[in-house]
Amino acid sequence: MAPMTATASTDWSFSSPEGEEHYRKALQAYPAQVIVDLAAIRDNMRRLVDVVNREGGRTDVMGVVKADAYGHGLLPVALASLAGGATWLGVAQAREALLLRRAGIDADRAHVLTWVNNPLQAPYRELIDLDVDLSVATLTAIDCIAQAAREAGKPARVHVKVDTGFGRNGFTLEQLPAAIERLRPLVQDGTFELVGQWSHLAVADAPDNPDFVRQTDLQVERFERFTEELAAAGLTPRIRHLANTAATLGRPELHYDLVRPGVALYGYEADPAMGTPSQYGLRPAMTLQAQLSSVKDVRAGEGLSYGRVYVTDRDTSVAIVPVGYADGIHRSASGFDEAGARHVDHAGGPLRLMTTQGPMLARVSGRVCMDQFIIDLHGSAQDLGVRIGDTVELFGPGRGEAFAEPTADDWARAADTISYEIFTCLRNRVPRLYLHAYDVLDGRDLAMLEPDSLL
Ligand SMILES: *Cc1c(COP(=O)(O)O)cnc(C)c1O
Repeated sequence: MAPMTATASTDWSFSSPEGEEHYRKALQAYPAQVIVDLAAIRDNMRRLVDVVNREGGRTDVMGVVKADAYGHGLLPVALASLAGGATWLGVAQAREALLLRRAGIDADRAHVLTWVNNPLQAPYRELIDLDVDLSVATLTAIDCIAQAAREAGKPARVHVKVDTGFGRNGFTLEQLPAAIERLRPLVQDGTFELVGQWSHLAVADAPDNPDFVRQTDLQVERFERFTEELAAAGLTPRIRHLANTAATLGRPELHYDLVRPGVALYGYEADPAMGTPSQYGLRPAMTLQAQLSSVKDVRAGEGLSYGRVYVTDRDTSVAIVPVGYADGIHRSASGFDEAGARHVDHAGGPLRLMTTQGPMLARVSGRVCMDQFIIDLHGSAQDLGVRIGDTVELFGPGRGEAFAEPTADDWARAADTISYEIFTCLRNRVPRLYLHAYDVLDGRDLAMLEPDSLL
């Protein structure tokens, strides 16, 4: 039997010899890969659909796929979430709404809502032509959308955004009368189809903080106030929606007609304070892996990387992982040690490698550089069986203690941020590859995707 090496640690289930060939090509193209399990995306969406329909109600689920589906890839994730039962797709930027429609996800298949733009320049005419739902949160947007709808010769589908306490987008209660005055004639004469009333929650991810729970309750009270004031003016949106992942999972009474989970679709809870993904029946979909570009022995007392913030405490081996902050690896996940010149103890981002003794957790040792970082193996690479070209896993689904597999939450902790930022920061020069596409999608959907990206 061949000696076990880290290369043997990733054992992907390819759909076909072509899939395996695509994987091989990706390794030649770049020494790191993002692998997204589309079955996990579909199953997470199924789970969310179950969660909101438990009480026999009828609540729709929007797959929030903004920011290139949180870095996972817009189209494959959009299609997998539709396969899991989503009936809506949500994006911040108009550009992504247009990409979804132009790719062939038409209005019969999914509603698409977009909510961020410069209203003076936004491509409202094309959005209306392509049946994209539009958020209105300013008087300027109302005017611009009305103009575009007249040009299009068909009603704009609008969702009135109300600011219930997030302090970001939406009409405040004070602004509402002016908004109503502007909206009412447009709804009455059919320029606008008033589809939704919506808002966003600020602190629904902190169920153990009574102040924050009260703040969410207050946001809900205000949300209802907005509904009453709109109704008093003869404006009755067909649906209302408020819940993000945190409220979808933790506040069933806030589901209304539609929920908008984002991070749960990717297999994460909104905040580790809410528990682990598996407690909610969710599975992280993304794995980030890389191939070691160098392995060598170094003496005790050697500084690793810029600034000598990490100094080896014994004769050891180090390996280079060829991804850095230009790939989206946070520099704040650098690993400092007490022996270092800065005398700061800060554990670097974790990763899993395979050794002859089984899986081992290593950490970023020293500063993350632009294109690479170093790991101290705390032992001899030869004894450990760690070799150049071995595949190491920065994070993955988190398959339990024995597997020593970090998750994006672990990276978030090391980088002092949230899982959301860990995956959305990953640059597109790291290839995205898709697992289980053939199990999840039909031929028509598969044809919309980059063939080389399918494993
Ligand atoms: C990003 C976003 C969501 C999804 O938030 P998660 O915390 O990822 O579930 C929902 N609604 C709006 C308006 C958003 O911007």
